[in-house]
Amino acid sequence: MADSPIPPSASLSAILNPNALFDNPLFAGGIGLAGLGAAAAFARRAVLSGGAMLRRRMLVNVEISRRDPSYPWILAWLSQPRENPGFVASRLTRIHNLSVATSTRSLDPAGSHTGPVQASFFLQPGYGRHIIRMRDGVYIAVNREKTSTANMSTGEPHETVTLTALWPHRHIFEEVFTQAHALSARAHEGKTVVYAARKLEWAPLGEPRKKRPLGSVILDEGVKEGIVADVQDFLSRQKWYVDRGIPYRRGYLLYGPPGSGKSSFIQALAGELDYSVAMINLSEVGVTDDHLSYLLTKLPKRSILLLEDADAAFQNRKQREADGYSGPTVTFSGLLNALDGLAAGEERIAFLTTNHIDRLDPALIRPGRVDMMVRIGEATRYQAGQMWDRFYGDIDADGSGRERFLRRLDQLGLFGEARGSDVPARHTSTAAIQGLFLFNKNDMEGAINMAEGLIPRTFEP
Ligand code: ADP
Repeated sequence: MADSPIPPSASLSAILNPNALFDNPLFAGGIGLAGLGAAAAFARRAVLSGGAMLRRRMLVNVEISRRDPSYPWILAWLSQPRENPGFVASRLTRIHNLSVATSTRSLDPAGSHTGPVQASFFLQPGYGRHIIRMRDGVYIAVNREKTSTANMSTGEPHETVTLTALWPHRHIFEEVFTQAHALSARAHEGKTVVYAARKLEWAPLGEPRKKRPLGSVILDEGVKEGIVADVQDFLSRQKWYVDRGIPYRRGYLLYGPPGSGKSSFIQALAGELDYSVAMINLSEVGVTDDHLSYLLTKLPKRSILLLEDADAAFQNRKQREADGYSGPTVTFSGLLNALDGLAAGEERIAFLTTNHIDRLDPALIRPGRVDMMVRIGEATRYQAGQMWDRFYGDIDADGSGRERFLRRLDQLGLFGEARGSDVPARHTSTAAIQGLFLFNKNDMEGAINMAEGLIPRTFEP
């Protein structure tokens, strides 16, 4: 207490006389320091807000949300493309933090998910900041970040990419988006994108597939041409529909046994029209009425809707009635409602497929829901001949191989005509014929010798 720098009497006199306080060197020094601190804090804030203002005035930001269709193009543009070295060289890419995007593609031309797959990887900028040099003296800062909100339907975190350039270089963004769009268009050229329903979103199913030529799908005589002509006629009649206030949509039902080319045809048709395919399998558990009607309001632009296994909606109903089961599946009325609500604005082409026509309810077959029903059946003589020509046409110039092959199929009763008592009438599928030809590539004799393998196997339990 004896060393106390300010005796109690001094503080009392300071209250009475403020000058006495400022005369105290310790107190004055303290006030001076506090003043300096406040000035520094003020200056710092001024610099920060000045910096922010300068940034606002000098820089331009473009934020691209993951939900925006341009998002994947921009990511691809940022990481791409090796095919145009001039372009790459012009962008001294200083991206050290990369992430990998993997996509898989079925090697089966029909895109089945069970066969061999091909995986491809491409590098894209990882999260964080990156600098890209567009050309001399023109830079873009890229910031890819996850935001705290998540996509409600998939649970994935939302993310954005922000591009920043100097104000005088703001026109560079036009260039960036044009290049990114051109890149994406080039990547999709000659390809068909297949979207599948993923919870409440449409997500591309693997990489875009090479367009399947219509000629590679062999349906019975005139069948393919009939459907294609009908679709083209529909697409040319927008005004007719609009003038009459009729929803601009058309539904097709393709039915018949599995492996007859229904899915392949729809994919080839989409390629021919330059449409994508948006596919939902109605037998999938988890696809509910609400999902279905929501997804149908969000269909990707220029896409053919493909509802596979349409009979599932009816089976589900029967099953529900039979055992009180109420699993999350599509119901009959859910399917009808979804179809009836289809087509606001844009044209809508819907294809339904089923292997069990007998299970469908007639209420489905009504204009606007299903306008055209086509049976895509077992392989006919015509189809077998056409498929032969596609596989062996160049090595069977005189067609004698084809005649022997068809005769062999006749002998086996594979065109549904009984050959005596020991050869019953039976059928085979076009998928089986394709399998036989693929197994005997460039080997006509092999295909003829193995034709017996086309006889469908029956399993006795
Ligand atoms: P579906 O949808 O009728 O079950 P897919 O279109 O899935 O049949 O065909 C299964 C496989 O068989 C595919 O690899 C497809 O290329 C081939 N295929 C089946 N039918 C035909 C056909 N009519 N023309 C060409 N290929 C066919």
